[in-house]
Amino acid sequence: MSNTEDLFKKIVSHSKEFGFIFQSSEIYDEGLASVYDYGQLGAELKKNLQNYWWRAMTQLHENVTGIDAAILMHPKTWKASGHVDSFNDPLIDNKDSKKRYRADVLLEDQIARYQKKGKDRNAEELRVALADCLNNNDLNGLQQLIIDHEIACPFSGTRNWTDVRQFNLMFSTQMSATADSGAGELYLRPETAQGIFVNFLNVQKTGGMRIPFGIAQIGKAFRNEIVARQFLFRMREFEQMEMQFFVRKGEEMKWFEYWKNQRMNWIKSLGIPEEKLRWKKHDKLAHYANAAEDIEYEFPFGFKEIEGIHSRTDFDLSRHQEFSGKKIQYFDNEINQNYVPYVVETSAGSDRIFFMLLCNSYKEEKVVDGEKEKIRKYLRLHPALAPVKAAIFPLVNKDGLPETGRKIMDELKYEFRVFYDERDSIGKRYAKQDLAGTPFCFTVDHQTLQDETVTVRHRDDTRQERLKIGTLADFLREKVEIKGLLKSLNV
Ligand code: ATP
Repeated sequence: MSNTEDLFKKIVSHSKEFGFIFQSSEIYDEGLASVYDYGQLGAELKKNLQNYWWRAMTQLHENVTGIDAAILMHPKTWKASGHVDSFNDPLIDNKDSKKRYRADVLLEDQIARYQKKGKDRNAEELRVALADCLNNNDLNGLQQLIIDHEIACPFSGTRNWTDVRQFNLMFSTQMSATADSGAGELYLRPETAQGIFVNFLNVQKTGGMRIPFGIAQIGKAFRNEIVARQFLFRMREFEQMEMQFFVRKGEEMKWFEYWKNQRMNWIKSLGIPEEKLRWKKHDKLAHYANAAEDIEYEFPFGFKEIEGIHSRTDFDLSRHQEFSGKKIQYFDNEINQNYVPYVVETSAGSDRIFFMLLCNSYKEEKVVDGEKEKIRKYLRLHPALAPVKAAIFPLVNKDGLPETGRKIMDELKYEFRVFYDERDSIGKRYAKQDLAGTPFCFTVDHQTLQDETVTVRHRDDTRQERLKIGTLADFLREKVEIKGLLKSLNV
């Protein structure tokens, strides 16, 4: 098994073992495919991550404000946005394994294989041909490429393929009939962006917003994705952290560059090394875009998108104007003109960034324990994101140490997520917190009773120091508050 495959498996099993991620409803058969639940530590980490995004977008940028729109929207929304007619994936089935694949993903994987083998010319030729087929909606062409490049099904190993067909990714549901509205087909939103567009005028008018300004939102999105087995990377129910920034026509490329920079800085501030990140220009622009680039992270299965920055022109607002029959325009009193604004979007996947954090922070290090060599495992999460900020341990379960530990806990719990534990040996307790990513452990021992100090043990280098109990809140505040991360962005 290669190291990267190994890492992928380790992350998946670590996530389950320590309560970060569980397969949805897994007590039934093998659970629901490509749907996941966040466990006790995962939920905390996700909230911290989303809180950091929210504050970085809305608090640091005076001209960005946030909303929380409903998942269900009027069905005309999706007609207007183009999702009913063209939110499709080209799919192909292998007749022997009966497995279904995205034709473009099979071809992209082939490009990556060529690149890995140093066959750069083949890779480039295939990339151009793929972009051509996608841009021209040429389904036969996609099938021909799969045949010509001798791509086999990873399960059956055969090249016995069906035709390529289009498949809409939206989940539909029914709204029950009422006397005045009638029954109707609704969609679970496939992106959060449309909830922002339909509220453009509401927010602009009630918030007195002046262009350029942005509306941010974190929320669930649903896509009936075919490709499974990529853990949090490709889910059927996932969360987006999106911001739509409304600008004057002609200024979109300036803002596109601005937001590209802002977003890359934010991702790096999570502790992601530069060489694990790259930009990728879209070969095929979506029907609404005039520029689009993705931030890609090197997951164990290769460089893959975590966030897209898109210049969406005035497509969405114009279409909503057309389909609703309501004027959706902005009066720009600097130039004395009414117009439909252009939009630059930053669209990040909360779950993919969460997954990236797990991949990036999972560490194994050799340590010498007496005569023996051991592997120490820990999650090197930024303290501001870590699910639990500090664990409090009485060294032994007697002599008044638990009482002092409880007292510290009671002082800190109003401000920080802290955890009290008096079971097991101290070594085991440290190891457990390392695996949860807890940056600090405070241990109460007999010296504490004499001089009111505790041992502070640091997760990353296992260093220990003694601090006065009265200074612990200040110590934590400095290390674990999101404020520190926000300041590092230098906005
Ligand atoms: P892909 O090409 O990987 O399918 P996309 O280009 O369709 O992604 P966008 O529509 O740009 O993705 O969505 C914005 C972000 O939402 C993506 O960068 C990604 O982080 C996240 N996202 C999209 N689809 C999924 C999914 N199925 N599971 C988890 N996150 C997703």
